[in-house]
Amino acid sequence: MQTTTCRVKGIHCASCAITIEKTLKKTAGVEKIEVNFATENAKITYDPSQTSIPALSQSIEPLGYTLHDSPSAIEMNMSEDEHKAHLGLNLTKEEKLKEQSVLYKQLLFTSPFVLLSIAMMIIDLLVRFNFMKELSPVIDSAIHHLLPIIATYMLFVVGKPYLLGLLRFFRHGKANMDTLIGLGTTSAFLYSLAISAFEESLEPFVDTANSYYDVTIVVIAFITLGKYLESRAKLKTGDAIEKLINLQAKTALVLKDGVEISVPIEKVEHDDVIIIKPGTRIPVDGIVIDGFSFVDESMITGEPIPVEKRMNDSVTAGTINTSGTFTFKATKVGSETLLAQIIKMVDSAQGSRAPIQAVADKISGVFVPIVLVIAFLSLFLWMVIGVPNLGFSMALSYGITSFVSVLIIACPCALGLATPTAIIVGIGKGAKNGILIKDAETLEKLHHVDTVIVDKTGTITKGKPEFIELQNFSNRSNDELIAILATLESKSEHPIAHAILTYAEQKKISLLALTAFNNIEGKGVTAEINGEKFTAGNTTLMSERKFTIDLDLLNKETSKGHTPIFLADEKTILGFVTVADTIKPESVQAIRDLQKLGISVVMLTGDNQKTAESIAREVGITSIHAEVLPQDKLRIIEELQTKNHIVAMAGDGINDAPALAKADIGIAMGNGSDIAIDTAGITLLNGDLSKLVKAISLSTLTIRGIRQNLFWAFIYNVVGIPLAAGLFFPIFGWLLNPIFAGFAMAFSSVSVVGNSLRLKQKKL
Ligand code: ADP
Ligand code: MG
Repeated sequence: MQTTTCRVKGIHCASCAITIEKTLKKTAGVEKIEVNFATENAKITYDPSQTSIPALSQSIEPLGYTLHDSPSAIEMNMSEDEHKAHLGLNLTKEEKLKEQSVLYKQLLFTSPFVLLSIAMMIIDLLVRFNFMKELSPVIDSAIHHLLPIIATYMLFVVGKPYLLGLLRFFRHGKANMDTLIGLGTTSAFLYSLAISAFEESLEPFVDTANSYYDVTIVVIAFITLGKYLESRAKLKTGDAIEKLINLQAKTALVLKDGVEISVPIEKVEHDDVIIIKPGTRIPVDGIVIDGFSFVDESMITGEPIPVEKRMNDSVTAGTINTSGTFTFKATKVGSETLLAQIIKMVDSAQGSRAPIQAVADKISGVFVPIVLVIAFLSLFLWMVIGVPNLGFSMALSYGITSFVSVLIIACPCALGLATPTAIIVGIGKGAKNGILIKDAETLEKLHHVDTVIVDKTGTITKGKPEFIELQNFSNRSNDELIAILATLESKSEHPIAHAILTYAEQKKISLLALTAFNNIEGKGVTAEINGEKFTAGNTTLMSERKFTIDLDLLNKETSKGHTPIFLADEKTILGFVTVADTIKPESVQAIRDLQKLGISVVMLTGDNQKTAESIAREVGITSIHAEVLPQDKLRIIEELQTKNHIVAMAGDGINDAPALAKADIGIAMGNGSDIAIDTAGITLLNGDLSKLVKAISLSTLTIRGIRQNLFWAFIYNVVGIPLAAGLFFPIFGWLLNPIFAGFAMAFSSVSVVGNSLRLKQKKL
């Protein structure tokens, strides 16, 4: 099986997407297909031994669609990595711009004729109601001879996509929104043509003064205008990713054999030494080896204050150096950089489908055939009911009006745009604020969350504990105990281990030789030094080994929020050290804000109960589970879920990965450049818990936007169709002019995209 994302050409609406999906799903070798109308991409999982993208493309070509593998790096004149980062985006954009300019030229060229048709309609009305005298017969007849010519041009040149849609319908029986518009405008045109051609012989039967050339002209003009505005707005919804791509520097200043040379970005290799001058952009990810500066990381983390960088600090591609100069060693290049990963993630998230869209998809899938039926039915009923009451000529004229209006107003185009455009803007806005959201589903689910579980270490606290003190119960020297402890911890990755090792280093205590090291997950470590067996770890581990603990002394330490680590030999506890972690400054406010949203915040930690209580008190959390093992974290989440809570779990993403995966929404707290952004549904790039509050409000705003969009898209159809069909005619005498139908149809899409764009301006 192979999964490819390719571009789809010829896609105009949500029902196109569904048609393609339905057709290809039936093809042998295709396992899964997801077509996204907003991004015009298809994600296909298929068996390459049975089919290929060109073969699949051929099978939908008769329907008016083609599939295109993203153009290769060579075609785009790019390096492989640059190409990966771009994901074919620029080309699509160029094409879109070209398409826009074609639409623009058509609009410009036809506008005098369209305005003339509109003027004629207004004059007709004014004359009919005696506001104005009739035009001189010469002018009137000249204009009325001009209208068929303009209508022909509009239908066959500007309206060609709709005509093709109609042709496809006759040939393959597959209808989409182009079919509806095509059928509507063509019917109006043919009816008028018949009148012009057989005016005399039709005179006794139909109202020959009433032709519909203006309908064909104005409806196509409005829809083209709507399409143009929509395509401009759609490009704007996707500009977040373009901004991210533009963060990528083109060259890097590399130090080679003592000389500075400017190297194209794709030629930068691991371990290259790169010089960063004041005001320049950091080209790849790496670690500072010399110099000092502040770096503006706001474009990645959303954090406005420049971050201090000195030796051993990590720097991220795309961020901007302020006034200092420094050199760093490249550790991640090309597609490995955080920036490249962010771009990839945002791109795939924007193309993903939100569950809320399923309703809209279902409706637009059955919409087109239903509308066709309604249109024919209303024509039929106008004739059946209308002829005896209004006479043949009036009934036919009204029937045609209804038929055309229903077809035009019912286009499900706005419905198809409602969800994806809001998702694209929402995901993009998140990325701009340092909130990376994996897919639309996560964004949608987030606002349902009622319980947030936070890991203590690294989430509420900085996750960088520091050594506080040593309590020695043994007859060995303090330095000896530290040497043993540091030796045991030297093989551990735990932040506590880091604290102890740093202390030993400061005290210039050298490590001993160790064997038989064993890590006891969530409890501690054991190892042998000089044949003697030692254990270091928490109270649980000590109780398991049946060692007695001086509880009074212990409680005195833990109530301060310090974490104890005991050291024992085979017989007894030798002593303990305490380490303390600092609470992140933004944690208190963030937790308060979450609670204000009605979300219950639960703290989970493997740390000591008393220590946990002390920290919880400081940040205002009342519900805690301390001394839990990694598997307990999973169980606690499951228990909450069986009580129907929607649970989000915020952790460091490295050792909490299983719990993050189990939660309804996993939130990884990013710290520095070692962020594994694909482990969780949401990554908060600078590890700031207050971003979670923002993410929730982003989710709420996006979903609200989608609901508004769906409401407006539906309202157009729910009110528009009966009105257009003439349902209110017998009661109020209302009948929708096809021209207003065209106007409403065009602006429903534009207003939906406009409403989605409004999300950009909203404060999180
Ligand atoms: P959390 O991530 O919630 O702080 P962990 O499961 O990583 O919890 O660790 C739980 C507890 O186990 C720590 O608070 C500590 O007491 C003990 N522990 C874990 N690893 C070590 C280690 N390498 N050395 C000493 N104690 C450890
Ligand atoms: Mg942890």
